[in-house]
Amino acid sequence: MEPNRLSNRTSDCLRSARDFLAAVTIVLFSAAPALVQEPASASLLLHAARVFDGNEMHNGLSVLVKNGRIAEIKPRASFKTDAAMQIIDLGDATLLPGFIELHAHLSYQKIAADTVLKHGITTIRDLGGPVHQPYGGEGDLRVLTSGPIITAPHGYPIVNLGAANIAIAVAGEEEARAVVRSLIDQGAVVIKIALEPGGETGAPWSSHHGHAHHDSAHAGPHGAQAASHSPAAWPMLPEAIVKAIVEEAHRHRRKVSAHVAETSGVRIALNAGVDEWAHMPCDAIPESLLKQAKAQNVIIIGTLDTLSKCAGITRNAAIWAELGGELLYGAEIAHPDIPWGIDAQELMLMMHMAKMELPDALRAATAKAGQHLGVPLLGTIQPGAPADLIAIQGNPAQHLKRLEYPGLVISGGRIVVNHFVSAD
Ligand SMILES: [Zn+2]
Repeated sequence: MEPNRLSNRTSDCLRSARDFLAAVTIVLFSAAPALVQEPASASLLLHAARVFDGNEMHNGLSVLVKNGRIAEIKPRASFKTDAAMQIIDLGDATLLPGFIELHAHLSYQKIAADTVLKHGITTIRDLGGPVHQPYGGEGDLRVLTSGPIITAPHGYPIVNLGAANIAIAVAGEEEARAVVRSLIDQGAVVIKIALEPGGETGAPWSSHHGHAHHDSAHAGPHGAQAASHSPAAWPMLPEAIVKAIVEEAHRHRRKVSAHVAETSGVRIALNAGVDEWAHMPCDAIPESLLKQAKAQNVIIIGTLDTLSKCAGITRNAAIWAELGGELLYGAEIAHPDIPWGIDAQELMLMMHMAKMELPDALRAATAKAGQHLGVPLLGTIQPGAPADLIAIQGNPAQHLKRLEYPGLVISGGRIVVNHFVSAD
């Protein structure tokens, strides 16, 4: 941060922003998990009938883990075993990379990290909560964060949730740039903003306030309809500030993720060059804007389950799929009715609404999600990848819900859960 270059008014705002960030950092360190379950064994050999390696399903391959990383993946018969090696034969099971949840609010809702880990999520990206450096991944949940959500004064989510530990308001471009730099200094891997006027029918954030509803339910197949603005709409960041945020984030090689749920927020996000939408929008979005998003290589994080009552969600997801747009896995852990772990319903909706095949949905929660986070090989089972693994009995094609309570969870080579019988 360079406060000497800023006006007094901005400096005041910055001071409060700094105090806020310092406060949340303290909260974070006092709440940091200390979870290591079992020391990493020198080498661990896993046999399973099926291995999904983050990209493809294979039969008859086994996986060797050494020093917290995947060492080898090859046919079972080609492994030479030795007495020092721990061997687990999973039998008729499917081994997969630990899942990556790209939209969670773990700290804000004080959800226990080990609960999430034991239910198959080995990495989360917290998209609104205290800022901190990435941590975990060695027997504990790997947590990356955006830090607090940048929004307009009195904007969402401050207007309904307050600002503490979840959001930070900015009123000008220089102030916004300074907040972006400060968050990145403190460990933010992505910058999260909110562009939410409120009132979308079916959205969880619409349930406790009385805005006029948008007309999305009546949008035609091409949805060429702007959102209606009630006078009571929550204030949103103007395009100029969002452009400044995007420019500053990109200068520091960070992407910007926007909470968008209706047309006016989508328009601002597109005009400002926002990289990612943190949700499939709730209201029906004009097809021309979805096409523009695809042309700008926007990535959308689903959160289809928590938004499944939204008027436009199925239509938006179907159009996005037809356009070939990228949809990644995020269920929004902390939202009502979302399990604290893998959400099989999210995967089902990715298949039903966005016409994905099961391997596409699994890729979106593993290899593609890891690539999106920029952590080398995360979400894959290949030599050199972090040994974050889960296993379920049988085949997820027949037993998708079993992913919600895997029989084996390994984080950084350390066994966190094992309900399979060990052969050693
Ligand atoms: Zn969220």
